Amino acid sequence: MKCPYCQHQDTSVLDSRPASDNNSIRRRRKCARCLKRFTTKEHVELLDLSIIKKDGRSEPFDRTKLLRGILKACEKRPVRRDKIENAINDIETSLRLMDRTEIPSRLVGDMVMERLKTLDEVAYVRFASVYRRFTEARQFVEAAREAAKFNKSASQKGAWGRIRRITASAPL
Ligand SMILES: [Zn+2]
Repeated sequence: MKCPYCQHQDTSVLDSRPASDNNSIRRRRKCARCLKRFTTKEHVELLDLSIIKKDGRSEPFDRTKLLRGILKACEKRPVRRDKIENAINDIETSLRLMDRTEIPSRLVGDMVMERLKTLDEVAYVRFASVYRRFTEARQFVEAAREAAKFNKSASQKGAWGRIRRITASAPL
């Protein structure tokens, strides 16, 4: 990306974040020569993402399928639909920012679990049980403990306040 001030070719990316439409990414850049900063808005070229499953088969990334899985885990739980949509948007954006077209399903599952952990402990345990194929009661207990521990330490550290502030701040 060329610097708009001095036309120098070498610029570095300071940070990247999804724009409000979630179909583009804003990057803050800095010119290596004149040190001026500027922002670019890059449209994500919607490459076909493939999800590589545990058995090695691949299937196209399917947002609707991901939504179904999360909705199922959140059934009858007080999780707002817009929070779920946000989680999926973030996950999809992160996947597309990875600059690769083949993504292991494990990675997507982990991303969903990370989000569910903060949204609802029960939904988290439900999703984990399907995704990690729990076969023993002990595994449910461990997952529940893990989610509870996370939420406890997050509130102690004030991480919730931080997360809320980031969520509430307007995109660039
Ligand atoms: Zn420059």
